[in-house]
Amino acid sequence: MECIFCKIARAEIKTELLYEDDDVIAFRDLHPQAPLHVLCIPRQHISTLNDLSPQQTALAGKLLLTAQRVAKNLAVEESGYRLVMNCNGHGGQTVFHIHLHLLAGRQMSWPPG
Ligand code: AMP
Repeated sequence: MECIFCKIARAEIKTELLYEDDDVIAFRDLHPQAPLHVLCIPRQHISTLNDLSPQQTALAGKLLLTAQRVAKNLAVEESGYRLVMNCNGHGGQTVFHIHLHLLAGRQMSWPPG
């Protein structure tokens, strides 16, 4: 499969992993939008949030807990952080393998642009 995040998950593209287990990995975004910008992804290919099924509830929870763990490991849990998952065109999704953005290290604005 040509999915870039699948290749990262299979270590066909070498990327420093900030966290990994059998189900999820976390690594730095190539084009960071904040001083800390990490992507948490399932190893399994799921194209968009629309494709997540009730059978994958535990996996979805694990993505959140991975972001929490990385935020703690990188000591931004107290200063704060933002989690974002983009879906399809209006959501701004560009890589069609679900991923949770963890953004930290600066004041986030609301509403997002
Ligand atoms: P989205 O626009 O929500 O689909 O986010 C995709 C993100 O993946 C963007 O922030 C990209 O900078 C990031 N990205 C694309 N390719 C890579 C890569 N090889 N390694 C790390 N991040 C990447």
